[in-house]
Amino acid sequence: MENYSQITKTIELEQYGIKNADVRYQLSPEELHKIAIEKGQAVEASSGALAVNTGEFTGRSPKDRFIVKDDVTRDRVWWGDINIPFDTDKFDALYKKVTDYLSNKEVFVRDSFACADEDYRLNIRVINEYPWSNQFAYNMFLRPTKEELVGFDPEWTVVNAPGFMANPEEDGTRQHNFAILNFTRKIALIGGTGYTGEIKKGIFSALNFLLPVYKNTLPMHCSANVGEEGDTAIFFGLSGTGKTTLSTDPNRSLIGDDEHGWTAENSVFNFEGGCYAKVINLSRDNEPEIYDAIKKGAILENVILDADKNVKFEDTSITQNTRVSYPIHHIENIQVPSTGKNVKNIFFLTADAFGVLPPISKLTPAQAAYHFISGYTAKVAGTEAGVVEPVPSFSACFGAPFMPLHPAKYAEMLSAKMIESGVNVWLVNTGWTGGPYGVGTRMKLKYTRAMINAVLNGDLGLYNYDDYHIHSVFGVAQPRSCPGVPTSVLSPRATWNDDEKYYTTAFKLSNAFRENFKKFEMHCSEEIRRGGPQRYAF
Ligand code: ATP
Ligand code: MN
Repeated sequence: MENYSQITKTIELEQYGIKNADVRYQLSPEELHKIAIEKGQAVEASSGALAVNTGEFTGRSPKDRFIVKDDVTRDRVWWGDINIPFDTDKFDALYKKVTDYLSNKEVFVRDSFACADEDYRLNIRVINEYPWSNQFAYNMFLRPTKEELVGFDPEWTVVNAPGFMANPEEDGTRQHNFAILNFTRKIALIGGTGYTGEIKKGIFSALNFLLPVYKNTLPMHCSANVGEEGDTAIFFGLSGTGKTTLSTDPNRSLIGDDEHGWTAENSVFNFEGGCYAKVINLSRDNEPEIYDAIKKGAILENVILDADKNVKFEDTSITQNTRVSYPIHHIENIQVPSTGKNVKNIFFLTADAFGVLPPISKLTPAQAAYHFISGYTAKVAGTEAGVVEPVPSFSACFGAPFMPLHPAKYAEMLSAKMIESGVNVWLVNTGWTGGPYGVGTRMKLKYTRAMINAVLNGDLGLYNYDDYHIHSVFGVAQPRSCPGVPTSVLSPRATWNDDEKYYTTAFKLSNAFRENFKKFEMHCSEEIRRGGPQRYAF
């Protein structure tokens, strides 16, 4: 797309404390691709995509994510295990160490934007030790035109030094890696980890503070797309629940797969300029758009290639979290610019490994608030065959690790917007059916897509209560039929063929909901509290 090859502008890094660096400014993805291979840091897969290993870290490290506690943040941030405070002086000292480390090195610098709506734009300068991390920034942030680069004034800076190792005793970190946000200096400082997701989620976390505090805009960990009639759909969900997979839909234009804002004017905009898809077990049959996006320009992370440089998508020997980043225009049906109006439907995606939540159900406004604050999905503990227990995992607003403010703040904003726009909210279980993990199977993608299409096409009756069954434990409205889905699949209890086991497991989950919600109860109205499960085990 953007051809930066004629850019002659150079950038001085002395102002950042990086001295005598060999600055490679705004290189094209082709150049970065080539340099990464020449340096032996990457190989080219048969598809043309670059394949890299991110090193020791193949996922984010939430325990090593800090926020500098200062005048901007002190009274606003919800401090705790998620938003861990970091001392200003310690930050300044560590920043100096990192910039000393980058001095006298070849350094890759990229200017870019976040926020596709011009009124909310944030200018970002990313400074990377590695060329492929810089190409990731090209893929994931919005790409300024050559004209926009003239006089570009960066507001936030990402300093990314995967090869720098902190000394916890001296530097105030937990271990050798860290991702620290400083809202006064407007810096995201990342070291000791090459996992690229830290770069995008650093800016995401910054926006999740800035937008509600200064712009009256709700930031959301969600994907979004638009139908032919101009109706926008939003998909919230924790990692692996299907945000990227389900928003990539040939019949709807993609706005974005992970990070969005909902403005006071009721429009939605993507923060990013690219997608970051999981590729575990990816197949062209199931997910052709994502499969075909893996071509020159895309960056595969931590995958295994065969002798012909084909990706072995089933091979998880490095990690389960194999990924690909690509600029959004690698997907055919996209919305340009990445904005939408008229939010009609919100989906809460959950991968329920207990297999007890209905594959789709409709929520009342109170239930929607309750489930948003709860942010439920499940993890599967252990990898040994046979004895595995799902573990419930609750993350407020479906993205607590990225939310610097108290969850109630985001929940209040969402509730107000839902009422204002009269949206319908649906809970979609993309997880297990026919029993829990180990017994049942993952919900067929084909069925989940059919259920979502039925909602979006208006094929699920909205007003006739007879079309729904109220779930006796969770209280949600479960449709009795849905085009393209066998009726038996719609009732989780029916798929188990064992009512006693089903209810025992459902109560296990409803109890977990209740336990988790205790810490939010005092912030919620009686109505929202009643949006939770209706029955518990004693
Ligand atoms: P992240 O926040 O980490 O980016 P995500 O919510 O975008 O996570 P996806 O990348 O969409 O998650 O991952 C969903 C995974 O689950 C994909 O690998 C997809 O193929 C698989 N999957 C299997 N069955 C389903 C289903 N019924 N619905 C959605 N995804 C499914
Ligand atoms: Mn995703």
